[in-house]
Amino acid sequence: TPVIGVLAVQGDVREHRAALESAGASSVAVRRPEELATVEALVIPGGESTTIDKLTRIFGLRDPLRSRIADGMPVYGSCAGMILLADRILDGHRDQQTLGGLDITVRRNAFGRQVDSYETDLEVAGVAGGPVRAVFIRAPWVEACGPDVEVLASVETEGGPRPVVVRQGRLLATSFHPEVTGDHRVHGFFVDMVRGTTA
Ligand code: GLN
Repeated sequence: TPVIGVLAVQGDVREHRAALESAGASSVAVRRPEELATVEALVIPGGESTTIDKLTRIFGLRDPLRSRIADGMPVYGSCAGMILLADRILDGHRDQQTLGGLDITVRRNAFGRQVDSYETDLEVAGVAGGPVRAVFIRAPWVEACGPDVEVLASVETEGGPRPVVVRQGRLLATSFHPEVTGDHRVHGFFVDMVRGTTA
């Protein structure tokens, strides 16, 4: 059983832990470098990316996280977690930093401030069994991706299609929150990545 951490400085940690356990993993809350050292993979939950950035720095997790990512640890970032994994941010807060690793440019709060949240059904490449209910809450989208990034799902917008699920090697990110729907297939996809059973 893969042991997967959930970064637990802020955000919806409990829901991700429950989803991981339903998908066949065991989960650990990660708040300290010693806890990070015990896990083979990590989920960065949704919440507020500026706060998660600040707290990971205060808790001494930033450098250990960056080096685990560089060493190839599988990481799944949802919403604020996608922002933390992005190499570049648009509309970031002044002084906001990311951990990086994913060769993408994300736009924070991309769906517009007036649209706090919306839901849609999305086909996600590699996730079998029909569309996934995608719940977007003050969500980012991907504005640009490097050549090694696979786009697994996009949404149509006035400006054209915008990627909302991307993968680059062992890093996976979604703009939306699959942990709130009771459908654990996205977490299952990540657990399979951790097991090394997906291409
Ligand atoms: N808007 C938030 C941010 O910029 C992300 C929202 C979320 O994770 N639901 O961090």
